[in-house]
Amino acid sequence: MKGVARISFQGGALLVPARTRYDHEVVFEHVETYARRHGTVRLELERKRYTVSVCTNCGYPLESLTYALGGRSLCLRCARNDE
Ligand SMILES: [Zn+2]
Repeated sequence: MKGVARISFQGGALLVPARTRYDHEVVFEHVETYARRHGTVRLELERKRYTVSVCTNCGYPLESLTYALGGRSLCLRCARNDE
């Protein structure tokens, strides 16, 4: 779909217009919001696919290491503090 970004997450998906530079900024704001809420979000934008994972506690982007605690994905620091 040209000009439309698809943001999918556990339990739903969102279609957002992505035609202008400003639209793209809004898309990434949505991605951040939903990633913080759900831990992992998939974004399809201009035929590219991204998977975005952040710590649901502090919003820190997760690399390869994810700590899943009670349905939440936490970064190392928050996983330690959660003990
Ligand atoms: Zn964290």
